[in-house]
Amino acid sequence: MINEGNSLFDLSGRVAVVTGAGGVLGGSIAASLMRAGVKVVATDIRQENLDTRVAELKHIHEDVIGVAGNVLDLENLKELAQTVKKQWGRIDILVNCAGGNVPGATLREDQNVFDMKIEDWEKVTNLNTNGTVYPCLAFGEVMAEQGSGSIINISSMATYSAITRVPGYSVSKSGINIFTQWLATEMALKFGEKVRVNALAPGFFIGDQNRAVLINPDGSYTERSVKVLARTPMNRFGDISELNGAVQFLCSDAASFITGVILPVDGGFTAFSGV
Ligand code: NAD
Repeated sequence: MINEGNSLFDLSGRVAVVTGAGGVLGGSIAASLMRAGVKVVATDIRQENLDTRVAELKHIHEDVIGVAGNVLDLENLKELAQTVKKQWGRIDILVNCAGGNVPGATLREDQNVFDMKIEDWEKVTNLNTNGTVYPCLAFGEVMAEQGSGSIINISSMATYSAITRVPGYSVSKSGINIFTQWLATEMALKFGEKVRVNALAPGFFIGDQNRAVLINPDGSYTERSVKVLARTPMNRFGDISELNGAVQFLCSDAASFITGVILPVDGGFTAFSGV
């Protein structure tokens, strides 16, 4: 296995679970962890995307398992945690990438909040809140038993100030922020300082779940994209590989005194007032 980092950042031989690994950011993070010598359990609800992803990851090294599943099925996640324990003996890293916006829960330009269907609100808040909480319970319990592990949740720019059209997404990602802080506190107090919980707050990256609101069918930027870029001092979208370094850092011993942090990776979006 190839090891990309120096010893403080070394993750080789560790075991990671990546949810949403069939997606854009989860796929990039899974590949990067594997290049750092990590054994990876890739999981996603979309079997076909997962199969394609696992086939790609196998080119990096052989220690990858793909298991299709729903992050909203706690029993299934607990079974998967036991399977991983049997196979590789431990779980060191959990990256919760499954989530995103749900069609219908993103209001159209011509809709307002009172047009939102409550089923769509419930779908998006359930996916992003419980879809992070349940894996933290299933895999975090293994880490608590071991007395070590690192969880990375995925927050959003929508938790710092209001972003139009995505009320359910914003509320549920804000829930992830406080749950990250809460669980970080709980783990350190009850299971020791080596179980750490942090989150990344990505700026704007083009993923499957947000492509339609950022890119027009002809490939040009939507009006929304133009507004995003005007508020991003680096004046570009993030490259999908640009979360990987932050994940490696937060999971490694280089971050041994860091827990409960929500780290923006955003080209300066949160720093800038727009003026
Ligand atoms: P993506 O749509 O490419 O990936 C999300 C993956 O989650 C998909 O493969 C999907 O099949 C999977 N998924 C959805 N529901 C699931 C379920 N119930 N069980 C298991 N898997 C499920 O999106 P992405 O852009 O890679 O986003 C990944 C995460 O990053 C999401 O939480 C998203 O909200 C967050 N995020 C993305 C951006 C961005 O700009 N792309 C910004 C901030 C936060």
